[in-house]
Amino acid sequence: MNAIKMVLFDLDDTLLHFDDYWEVSVKDAFRNHFYTRDLDADELFEAFHHAEQSLVKKLDSQQITFDEYRTQRFLVAMDQMGQPTDIETAIDFEMFYQSLSKKHMKPNLMINQMIKDLLNQYQVGILTNGTRGWQTAKLEAMGLDRIIPESNVFISEVIGHEKPSPEIYHYVLRTTSLQPEQVLVVGDSWTNDVAAPIRAGMKAIWLNKKNVQVPQAPRPLAVIAEIEELRAILMSETLLQHREP
Ligand SMILES: [Mg+2]
Repeated sequence: MNAIKMVLFDLDDTLLHFDDYWEVSVKDAFRNHFYTRDLDADELFEAFHHAEQSLVKKLDSQQITFDEYRTQRFLVAMDQMGQPTDIETAIDFEMFYQSLSKKHMKPNLMINQMIKDLLNQYQVGILTNGTRGWQTAKLEAMGLDRIIPESNVFISEVIGHEKPSPEIYHYVLRTTSLQPEQVLVVGDSWTNDVAAPIRAGMKAIWLNKKNVQVPQAPRPLAVIAEIEELRAILMSETLLQHREP
């Protein structure tokens, strides 16, 4: 068995939880953006949240791209509110929301320490779907940019492919010169962080926070409910035995 050399984390909802900053940031943006400030922020949030839930399914099945997902949730919500608008306003809102949300994202000291400890034994990287500017801003807000080497941060916009396209995992392998089985992907998306990387020959650990039923196949190395559980798994003797001297 080939030892794990790199732990590759998904970012959104794996290291940085949407629920921790999303609602407060979106409502902050609704209350202050020129197109939405006269509307009821709570009511608009409901419409936005509803639109988001149906669009995320389309995103997961690759019917829409990440950019489309982010603008459409605003367009659909504004339709719902009887204030239809255009793509330029949706993009402007998205940029505004992003600039506000940085102040609502906080470093998670437990996660940051765990990654520092993992770095004693492994290379650590990030594999995330999104834009360079936005994903980098999140890493900076969390203090992860100072812990994880920039050369190990893989962002779909920069690579030109999104998870779960096979190309994005192959890109990581080419760039790191690692064998597929030396890379362990950890993330909350079964499709993006478990099934697709395993198909590319990598290993995977699924963060199943919502405790949904685990699909029969493929088999991840482990299924965890909290990211903290990684510490015990990745520093356990079972895996260490497989590490090369
Ligand atoms: Mg995720």
